Amino acid sequence: MSIKLYPWQDALEKALLDLRDRLPNGLLVYGPRGAGIFDLVQAFAKSLLCTQPAADGTPCGRCHGCHLVRAGTHPDIRYVVSEAESLPREIPFVPPDTAASDRKTVYREILIHQTRALTDFLNLKSHEGGVRIVLVYPADRIRAEAAASLLKSLEEPPENTVFMLVADEIDRVLPTIRSRCRLIRAGAPTREQALEWLKSQGVQDAERKLTEAGGMPLAVFDEDARFRLADETRERFLAYLKLGHAAPPAQALSVADKDVTLSAAALFLSRWGWDLASAKVGCEPQYFPEFAEEIKTIAQAANPTGLYTWINSVRDIRRVSEHPLNAKTMIEALLISYARNI
Ligand SMILES: [Zn+2]
Repeated sequence: MSIKLYPWQDALEKALLDLRDRLPNGLLVYGPRGAGIFDLVQAFAKSLLCTQPAADGTPCGRCHGCHLVRAGTHPDIRYVVSEAESLPREIPFVPPDTAASDRKTVYREILIHQTRALTDFLNLKSHEGGVRIVLVYPADRIRAEAAASLLKSLEEPPENTVFMLVADEIDRVLPTIRSRCRLIRAGAPTREQALEWLKSQGVQDAERKLTEAGGMPLAVFDEDARFRLADETRERFLAYLKLGHAAPPAQALSVADKDVTLSAAALFLSRWGWDLASAKVGCEPQYFPEFAEEIKTIAQAANPTGLYTWINSVRDIRRVSEHPLNAKTMIEALLISYARNI
């Protein structure tokens, strides 16, 4: 029996289950995105709502608490989860009243109305007589006013209530929030563990996909397609980029089609740029190891100033890439400046 969801989670599972009988008011679990950390913390939270758990803390699956959890209607658990993280997990998200009905982007941060909605929950007594749980993710992406309101709840925690926060990047969590929590660092899977698991899931071309996903196996399945290029588009980008400074501007115009998002293109180009910069200083490429030879050749010939100018321009575009702009034109401009600069 176990609550862990993935084979690399033994240590985190043990750390959580060890807390079962002495829960802190605030718990902050942090570690790399794409390693399934939030999902295990959520499983732990659900296991706490079981009234007849096994000796090791795993839920029985039969009691009233377990039934309510399974139906998604347990009154003693609340989610404060960004819209972007709610969607793939089927966690309910209520948009703010002022939400424009035609907005094109999802909210990636926790908003003030979400933490405000907690107040009523926290003023009530536990429905089922046990612990009440607030799950917060991503704790490193909370808007300022929402963070202030969450902090207030954390500072005066109601009886028998535990706040479970999960963050991808601990350095981005407000120190005031951090200091109110027990910290647990969750490790990343080894490359071997990640590959073995991906293959067991029937993933083709697992090596390449894992590398592209920064070594985090669940990022391979990231449903956030805005950050991923379709396979055919990826081939066109690579065919162009591999030409280095000889890439003809005319070809740049046929690399991106109208469906390519700026977020996905900018991320892809920044990774290519990162690999070129690594090769320039004698390191192995991280994101495109299969093109190590081409990358080294281009990097050797590249003018360093031009290369860094180009990398910076990609970075600038990434900063605005959440906004609806003319994506195709901006991508073309980046591609043309690539050949011109390096
Ligand atoms: Zn149960």
